[in-house]
This record gives sequence, C-alpha cells and structure tokens, in this order.
Amino acid sequence: VIYQGRKKYPVNEICLHTAAVPTGWAAKRTVEQARDEIRDWHIDRGWRDIGYHYIIGSRGGLAHGRPNTQVGAGVRGHNRGVIHVCMPNKVAHHGVKDFDTYFTTEQRETLVALIQTLQLATDITKISGHNEYAAKECPGFYVQQDEELQSLLGKLSRYS
Ligand SMILES: [Zn+2]
Repeated sequence: VIYQGRKKYPVNEICLHTAAVPTGWAAKRTVEQARDEIRDWHIDRGWRDIGYHYIIGSRGGLAHGRPNTQVGAGVRGHNRGVIHVCMPNKVAHHGVKDFDTYFTTEQRETLVALIQTLQLATDITKISGHNEYAAKECPGFYVQQDEELQSLLGKLSRYS
C-alpha cells in the first residue's frame, strides 16, 4: 500500500488531468521539459511543488512530479489518497470529447502501464477524471466512459 502524508492516507484512486496547452505544445517538449514548466506554473500559484504525481508526454515518456508518498494538488478538496496524473493534450481543447481526440496512442500505452504498476503497489479502486469533481472539462474526456481504462481496473481487481 502507498500512504500519503504524515496522516498516512492510503492511495486508492488515480485521477487524470490535462495541462490544457495549445496545439503542438506537448510535441515540442520532452516530458521532463513539460514537467518542469508545469511545476513552474504551480509554484507561481504559490504551491510548494507541482500538484501532479506523474506527467505523461505526447511521445509516451513518463516523468515523476510530486512523490507518491505526498498528498497531491489536483482537485480542490479531493487529494488525500489520490495519485494525480497529467497528460498534456496534443490539440487545443474544444469541449469534452474522447481520449484519442486529445491524447496520443503512446500516452495511452504509458498510462495503462502506469496504472498496472500502481495497482501492484496499492489497492486502486477508482480511475477518475478531474471533471467528475469540478465543473471543468479536464482531462477532456469522461474517464468512467473509457472502456479500456475501466476494464483494466476490473480485470486486475478480480484477481485480488
Ligand atoms: Zn485537472
């Protein structure tokens, strides 16, 4: 089990986000560059560190953000026990669509692998999106309607 913070909140949820950047922003940057810029935005807001635990770049690279053992800052009032994952979008946002509209196949492959890895480390019972908790489009699709992501959770939890 992964625990967050001094109060040791057990991690049981992965929440997805996008960075809502202009078309082409993600393709022009390595995932580490994207992570560092997002961290700068969050520190400029007065946060102590990047709010997300992972960034997945448009070429499928994975960069660590805030340590998993620390409570993140992804959803106001819903951060304890949640791992926040941010995928910078490939095209500018125009409403809530589906995964493939905003993200690459490489991002999906890395996200699936990351979810599987986290499930081995802690008991993930929910894969959610920011828009379930706030009147926002983020991450640009309804995570509960993404059959591949949700079936992944179902399949693995059946064995546990
Ligand atoms: Zn978000």
